[in-house]
Amino acid sequence: MFARIRPQEFEVWQWQPGEQIPKVKSVTGPGTKNSCRLCGKLMSEHAWVSEKTMACPGDWIVKTAPGDLMICPKDEFELIFELQPEKEGE
Ligand SMILES: [Zn+2]
Repeated sequence: MFARIRPQEFEVWQWQPGEQIPKVKSVTGPGTKNSCRLCGKLMSEHAWVSEKTMACPGDWIVKTAPGDLMICPKDEFELIFELQPEKEGE
């Protein structure tokens, strides 16, 4: 027998500076003029997704469980996920 995983939908947002995403906060304070070691952009263009994880501009944020947010880099996101059309009334 064979089985395949049932399709599952996740709520997702793409982080860009100034984007309003629940529970996600722009990086502020000292160090915002430093460059990121991963993407080279200014830290002020980044956002805290949890206490220890930071999203770079263009990263996707995926809600995996109530209150749990996961960062998914753009190229990885495009391999794993397929954007769905907006639902009526959202
Ligand atoms: Zn970065």
